[in-house]
Amino acid sequence: MPFRIGHGYDLHRLEPIAPNGPGRPLVIAGVTLEHPMGPVSHSDGDVAYHAVTDAVLGALGEGDIGQLFPDDDPRWDGADSAVFIREAAQHMTERGFIVGNLDVTIICERPKLSGKKTVMIANIARLLNCEVSRVNLKGKTHEKVDAVGEGRAVEAHVVVLLERV
Ligand code: MG
Repeated sequence: MPFRIGHGYDLHRLEPIAPNGPGRPLVIAGVTLEHPMGPVSHSDGDVAYHAVTDAVLGALGEGDIGQLFPDDDPRWDGADSAVFIREAAQHMTERGFIVGNLDVTIICERPKLSGKKTVMIANIARLLNCEVSRVNLKGKTHEKVDAVGEGRAVEAHVVVLLERV
């Protein structure tokens, strides 16, 4: 098949950052954001990187991030989630695919992501070895309702199209 499509989704609960709670510093798409709350997670809890990894693995028909990187494996405790995308990208390359395009939606009530998007896009494109023009990233709020809207969680959705080269 010349094309493969994949979808990725992730959510992390946000809690006050240590020493006030169990949250890690808030990192989204490789950018550390100033915020008193952060994800409760085994790795660094980068919701965007996790959803990108799952989208690529999904497109390849290779299961999910938890199969490749079990969350009870001490190697991934506090890990930079860039490791996960790099591994998925390596699988993609080995299977003879490149990113056609990738569309990322991050749902985060606060902090505001505008002003960070260019760096986030560059980070994702670099890890997937593709041009920045192939990556789109949207930031949305959840209109103050439900856990995400109340600032208690952050969520990401990704769709990717892979092209055979
Ligand atoms: Mg995750």
